[in-house]
Amino acid sequence: MAVLDLVLYPDHPLTVKAVPYESVGSELAQLAEDMLETMHAYAGVGLAGPQVGISKRIFVLCEPEGEPMCLINPEILEMEGCEEGEEGCLSMPQVFANVPRATRIRVRALNELGKPQEFEARDFLARIIQHEYDHLEGILFPDRLDIITREAKLQEWETVRKQLLEAATRR
Ligand code: ZN
Repeated sequence: MAVLDLVLYPDHPLTVKAVPYESVGSELAQLAEDMLETMHAYAGVGLAGPQVGISKRIFVLCEPEGEPMCLINPEILEMEGCEEGEEGCLSMPQVFANVPRATRIRVRALNELGKPQEFEARDFLARIIQHEYDHLEGILFPDRLDIITREAKLQEWETVRKQLLEAATRR
């Protein structure tokens, strides 16, 4: 297992649309494991391919106390309800905002072994899936905010990013 390098906003390929997998090869089980390891190393609850430099339609997630999951070529078939809840992002650490999301969704995806799955997700799990799905579309959570909050959060991130990059060069 390996902890992968995280891509920070707005670096490539975070803001472009990720490409679907044509087939699920055996290497994807290993990638899913590495992505989960990386997600846990940074105390996240979800991680998408573009966040580790892979512009492909894959993400992993694990609710607190939940089972780890890997979704490949996911589709959100239904969305219902709307609720605001706090979100952060490993591509934009230390910045948090209340983001509106559907409270119930229906999802279809392949797992890391290529097996099709379809299920319903609610509340926090639905929130994680919508956040990670957005990453595959090149969308980050500030894009879901009103323009004034969005600008404020991006400015906040600019300051944090500078500090992180300075700390990294000092090491
Ligand atoms: Zn994120």
